[in-house]
Amino acid sequence: MPVRVEKDLCIGCEACISVCPTSALVMEDDGTAFCHEDLCIDCGACIPVCPTEAIIEV
Ligand code: SF4
Ligand code: SF4
Repeated sequence: MPVRVEKDLCIGCEACISVCPTSALVMEDDGTAFCHEDLCIDCGACIPVCPTEAIIEV
C-alpha cells in the first residue's frame, strides 16, 4: 500500500523527500509534499521522519 500526504498537516519541511529511495515524494507548488503512488514501494521510510505525522498509509 502506498502512502499519502495529508495536505492539512504538511508543513513543507521536505524531510520525507530526502529519505524516499524512489523519488516518489515531490514538493508541489503549494509548498506541501505529494506522493506519486505509482513510484512508492511502501518501504515506510518517510513515515517516521515526518514531524507532523502527515504521511499515512492508504
Ligand atoms: S513509503 Fe518509501 S517509497 Fe513510499 S513515499 Fe515513503 S519513502 Fe518513498
Ligand atoms: S516530512 Fe511531513 S511535513 Fe515534512 S514535507 Fe514531508 S509530509 Fe510534509
